[in-house]
Amino acid sequence: MYIASPERYDNMKYNRSGRSGLLLPAISLGLWHNFGGNDLFENGRAMVRRAFDLGITHFDLANNYGPPPGSAEENFGRMLRQDLAAYRDELIISTKAGYYMWPGPYGEWGSKKNLVSSLDQSLKRMGLDYVDIFYHHRPDPNTPLEETMAALDLIVRQGKALYVGISNYRPAEAREAAQILRRLGTPCLIHQPNYSMMSRWIEDELQDVLAEEGIGTIAFSPLYKGILTDRYLNGIAADSRAAGPSVFLSEKEITEEVIGKVRKLNDIAAARGQKMSQLALSWVLRGGKVTSALIGASKVSQIEDAVASLNAPELSTEELEQIEAILRG
Ligand code: NDP
Repeated sequence: MYIASPERYDNMKYNRSGRSGLLLPAISLGLWHNFGGNDLFENGRAMVRRAFDLGITHFDLANNYGPPPGSAEENFGRMLRQDLAAYRDELIISTKAGYYMWPGPYGEWGSKKNLVSSLDQSLKRMGLDYVDIFYHHRPDPNTPLEETMAALDLIVRQGKALYVGISNYRPAEAREAAQILRRLGTPCLIHQPNYSMMSRWIEDELQDVLAEEGIGTIAFSPLYKGILTDRYLNGIAADSRAAGPSVFLSEKEITEEVIGKVRKLNDIAAARGQKMSQLALSWVLRGGKVTSALIGASKVSQIEDAVASLNAPELSTEELEQIEAILRG
């Protein structure tokens, strides 16, 4: 039987999500890869347990995570029943709808029909009465934003989610979504964009919008799907994402140019006594604009690395300038 570590809250940092009451761990764990029906259940289970023992209270899912789609939620539901049932009130569990999930006109995008039906399916798969955060996963160009936001508001009023968020929304649509939600009385808790040293689009405008609207930011793929780690410094590790069946990272993305930069960044990490992955997380969390870095992991040790990165000193102005020069170069 699993008993959570009594020290689980000793070292983790918790940051407020925007102008809400909710504190999120600086490191959150996503179950996009390595937790599906095609993966080893016991490995995923060990990662979730270790994460919780280290103070990671937030686990991020979506209807379609697997493969096969839905299986990450089913597996997480099993872990909740086997290990975490007693700790439900210590957990922030999120899921999403918006990408393709089932055939026909209601299985994706942003209609009220899609969001409500999808969340009902997710709750069943996880064996939950409610999720803590429910997201619209991607903007829908063909559904009025009022309808999608009204669906999020409805879901909260029905008690199926405590908070709502948006993901992959550009600055103007994020602002409009926030304003509609505020009018409805269900403020937007959080935005989930991708953000890392290799993908910095949110710096242009989105970060200002989120600060003004009082919305938190949870940065997905902060390690750029594993590229900002030591995984590819000496070729493609056989057990890495790029070498595996995932269609979301191919060996073609691991170019000499990219890895040349990662090698130089890795030298900065080493001079700070950090691993490459830890430097990437210190960088994403620098200056306090990002509420939580949403990592993925294939091994328990990767979660330990991520949490240990929080003990490192803040990046100095000189280090930040060196990093800028490498990323520009
Ligand atoms: P990351 O950028 O954190 O990449 C995670 C991968 O990096 C791991 O699977 C592992 O790859 C490698 N890694 C992690 N730690 C280490 C380490 N210490 N040393 C070496 N390698 C390491 O994030 P993901 O791309 O996995 O995305 C994270 C989460 O973000 C998802 O699970 C999901 O919840 C969310 N997400 C949301 C999206 C959205 O549209 N809203 C889209 C994509 C993700 P390896 O397998 O090679 O070991």
